[in-house]
Amino acid sequence: MGGLCDSCCPRRGKAGMYRDKPVPDCPFCGIVGGDTPERVIFRSDRLIAFPSIRPQAAVHLLVVPHSHVPNTDVLGADDLELVEEMERVGRDLLARTAPAGSELKFGYHVPPWRSVDHLHLHCMALPHSPPWTAVKYMLPGVWLSSADLVVRLRRRRRQRQRPGLLQQEGGAGGAAA
Ligand SMILES: [Zn+2]
Ligand SMILES: [Zn+2]
Repeated sequence: MGGLCDSCCPRRGKAGMYRDKPVPDCPFCGIVGGDTPERVIFRSDRLIAFPSIRPQAAVHLLVVPHSHVPNTDVLGADDLELVEEMERVGRDLLARTAPAGSELKFGYHVPPWRSVDHLHLHCMALPHSPPWTAVKYMLPGVWLSSADLVVRLRRRRRQRQRPGLLQQEGGAGGAAA
């Protein structure tokens, strides 16, 4: 629960600390800033997309927010629209670039299992190649599907709107995380 402290206390507002300015040495902030324009296949006022440098699927794109959001752990209820928009953009791009009828996969690596500390949605048309890399994009605790993240953020938003909900749903167990 950041809320109150987000604007004044950087430690509590982990995401807010980064979001406003590019981070030096972050490769994705560099691409957002125009380092390699030839790689970028989509750009809007808050997202860009480009093919993965190390593709591990038949088509493998990354959708990245302009803001340096470090990872899924710092996302809160206010980020629901961002996450939904990232998947929408990824689906549109795959619809144009992936072979018709491909199985599609959308999701994130969770800390510490990611290579770049700037939020990026993997958008893939399967199969994975080489095939063993599939485990990187399915194991719970390593991989978080975009759909599961949307569910999580929607739940957070409901809890914020109705703070009593947790206790009601959680029953007598206590320890709601
Ligand atoms: Zn960055
Ligand atoms: Zn990743």
